[in-house]
Amino acid sequence: MAEEITKNQQKALDRADILKSAIADYREALKTMSTGFTHWPRILENQKRIKNFFKASDEDWNNWRWQLKNRITTTAVLKELLPLTKQELDDIEKTGSLYRWAVSPYYLSLIDADNPVDPVKLQCIPQIDEYVDHGGYDDPMGEEFTSPTQAVTRRYADRLIIKVTNQCAMYCRHCQRRRAIGEKDLATPKKHLEEAIEYVRNNEEIRDVLLTGGDGFMLDNQTIEWLLDELDQIPHVEIKRFGSRTLVTMPQRIDDELCRIFSEHLPLYVNTHFNSPLEVTPDAQEACFKLARSGVSLGNQAVLLKGVNNDPFVMRKLNQDLLKCMVRPYYIFHAKAVKGTAHFRTKVEEGIEIMEKLRGFTSGLAIPTFVVNAPLGQGKTPMLPEYLVSSGKDYIMIRTWENKVLKYDN
Ligand SMILES: *Cc1c(COP(=O)(O)O)cnc(C)c1O
Repeated sequence: MAEEITKNQQKALDRADILKSAIADYREALKTMSTGFTHWPRILENQKRIKNFFKASDEDWNNWRWQLKNRITTTAVLKELLPLTKQELDDIEKTGSLYRWAVSPYYLSLIDADNPVDPVKLQCIPQIDEYVDHGGYDDPMGEEFTSPTQAVTRRYADRLIIKVTNQCAMYCRHCQRRRAIGEKDLATPKKHLEEAIEYVRNNEEIRDVLLTGGDGFMLDNQTIEWLLDELDQIPHVEIKRFGSRTLVTMPQRIDDELCRIFSEHLPLYVNTHFNSPLEVTPDAQEACFKLARSGVSLGNQAVLLKGVNNDPFVMRKLNQDLLKCMVRPYYIFHAKAVKGTAHFRTKVEEGIEIMEKLRGFTSGLAIPTFVVNAPLGQGKTPMLPEYLVSSGKDYIMIRTWENKVLKYDN
């Protein structure tokens, strides 16, 4: 008997060795991978410098109105805060004449100035690649054809989007709605919001309403409370969702009053948009915790971007770090063919390879769905590695995460 246990134990120990070696390469990669946590001391140095430049107090810095008002939008200010070559400054001017840009002081502080291809920088500072890209579409999703009333985009049977503003704390260089960003910040007029709510009220099959933009959290607290009150009065609206990138770009936005409003309007889901482990900072984590404490359920919609996160280990780390913030990875989007963003696009196969290196290698909770958006807004379509290899009359052949092909009785 004693010998039997030892044998089984030996088997388990051997298996544990195999399992350990399955993630040895990842653990090695982590030793040199930077994140918002490993970079935090340097980020704090950056913040000190930026605060000095603006003569801002800590109180200013922690106030989202201050962050928004002091977004960096000119090369004259930018070059004081970030070392840039003459060429880079010229490129920013040129591209900026075509596509708007703005960076919150907080998001700017996440940039590693020593890294010319820093993933945070790539997402917020205009590059000449945008200017020279004449391919792609302004509106690859054909949103103008799926808008039954001004502020609404309806592409599905039981849910829809209300675009509440075109404003963001930072304008992503890969933005899919850059055509709507325009030159000025525009909150959707109250009349259009009322019409959108009326549309929801008149269509009983709509059980899920997504408030986005732009960035849903650019609205003031009072308007957010009004919208949620209105939606809660519609009996067939079961859940509300917000889309906001402020957890990443301006975590100061998550103030106590917003949390109070949310806690009074559950069930409520917030989807955000972290793309890089460098964006997952202690401040972002605290903002996520505040929302989670208010009862909000958090998800993440990443976009697969060349040079930012098209690496299986970076994506694994991102999703693991999100779980530490109570954020459940929800989607990875294949980048759409938006004009001015070709330099970010990858092959779909890269996304499938990322999924292959997630499943089994880490918590199921850390595994989002990789989706391609079908042309002209015909729906998010999942792309998966193949696990069903073949099938016979009463069996199938399956492939495990370790690439073992096994017969399975069916
Ligand atoms: C993405 C999207 C939704 C939400 O889709 P889920 O898969 O339910 O998250 C709803 N409406 C539109 C127009 C969308 O693009």
